[in-house]
This record gives sequence, structure tokens and C-alpha cells, in this order.
Amino acid sequence: MTNPWRATVLTLFPEMFPGPLGVSLAGRALASGLWQLEARDIRASATDRHRSVDDTPAGGGPGMVLRADVLAAAIDTAETGPERPRLLMSPRGRPLTQARVIELAQGPGPLIVCGRFEGIDQRVIDTRDLEEVSIGDYVLSGGEIAALALIDACVRLLPGVMGKEASGTEESFSDGLLEYPQYTRPQLFEGVPIPEILTSGDHAKVAAWRRAESEALTAARRADLWAKIPSKVPNRPGRRKTPKSTTDG
Ligand code: SAM
Repeated sequence: MTNPWRATVLTLFPEMFPGPLGVSLAGRALASGLWQLEARDIRASATDRHRSVDDTPAGGGPGMVLRADVLAAAIDTAETGPERPRLLMSPRGRPLTQARVIELAQGPGPLIVCGRFEGIDQRVIDTRDLEEVSIGDYVLSGGEIAALALIDACVRLLPGVMGKEASGTEESFSDGLLEYPQYTRPQLFEGVPIPEILTSGDHAKVAAWRRAESEALTAARRADLWAKIPSKVPNRPGRRKTPKSTTDG
């Protein structure tokens, strides 16, 4: 039997884990052993009597920086094999994408370093070959919430975690597009009906409608994604109105 997917998190706040990953889909999968989570306290690798983990930035400036020696020792004692990706949650990292999430979910599971303060000493990033990963162009106070987001995105893709396999293949980003609008009962909500086509029973028409909606939403909201779609059909009937200023065409 192969080992289950495993996330090893290095943090100054191990009590933040599993946090939201302990409930619902991820929590049930964790409890049943479909994946494993290990939150390791970086402070356990501190060596001085105050158990200090940070110091002032070389060259001056505000805030504190996580010390290279303490963090490197924490990484080294985490005993992760060379085949496990080593990530550092970082606002200056490469933005996390669904494609990278899929890769990470298909591997053995990453080691994830959570920064705090002004960040971590660059020498640890270089010598421990950390891949910097951002979850968006904004600054969190620590890497833990970013790590939780990344792990959640991976765990839901692990075999046996999601109820219906299809829900992983038809959602936003799976084909480079945003997902089409979803509806459910009641049929009439505050005078607004479910689009007729969705209750027609005609699967081909439903699929075409969904594709058109996905394309229209993507063109309207995400010019960056839209630009990468090779076969665009402009002004397909049934499409949502899209603003003029897209990269369409
Ligand atoms: N001084 C850093 C800078 O300007 O890039 C910001 C440090 S931030 C206050 C502390 C830690 O939170 C970072 O080291 C990183 O681990 C985490 N963090 C903050 N924003 C993040 C983001 N958008 N994505 C991933 N991690 C983030």
C-alpha cells in the first residue's frame, strides 16, 4: 500500500492546524486516513534560552526576520524526502494556479514553510531550495492561512475525497474557463425562474449553454484567462453580454 498524501507544515503557530481543514470534506478525509497533516513548531528548533526565532533585518528597516539557523534546522529535522516539494508561502512567490494544485495533489504532498514578521532569511530560501508560492497580490500577516488554502485545494482533489469525481473536472479553471452559473430548487425564486434550457432535459443543449456562459463570464471577468483560450467563438448565441475591452480575438 502506498503512503497517503501528506502535508508537513512548519509554523510558529501549529495550533492553527488543522483548523478549518478539520471539518467537512477535508476533515472527514483526514479522519479516515486519506491524507495526513503534520504541523511542526519552528520554535522547537530554537537554541538559545529565550527560544528566539527572529532578529532585526540586516541593513536596518522595520520589523523582524525569521532566523536562518532556526528555520534551516526546522526544515532539516522535518525529514522530508527529496521527492517532496518544499514550498514557502510568500506574497512575492509565483501565484498559485489550479494547474500547480493538480501537480501537488498528484505528488506525495509538500513541505510548507509559513513565514511571519517581515519574512524569512533569504539564505534558507536558497540553500533549502524553497519554491515561493503566493495566494494573491495582498499581504497576510503569516503564511498559515495561505498554507491552509493551498492544502484545501489539493486535498479535495485526492482520490476518494470528493463525492462525485465529476465535480473536480467541470469546475472553474479545469479547462481554463470560469465555471458557468449554477441553479437548484426552488424553480421560481423571488419571481426569477431557473433558465428554461436547464430543465429541458436536452443534455447537448445544456452543455452548449454552459460552455457559452463559461466563455462569457471568463471574457468579462478574466481577460488574462480568456487570452489563453485557443478556440473562441465570438458572439455565440445565448452568450452573456461581455464588455468591449477584453482580449477576445
Ligand atoms: N515583508 C513581506 C513582503 O513585503 O513581501 C511580507 C511578510 S508577511 C507580513 C508575513 C508572511 O505571511 C510571509 O512571509 C508569508 O509567509 C505570508 N504571506 C503573506 N502574504 C502572503 C500571500 N499573498 N501569499 C502567500 N503567503 C503570504
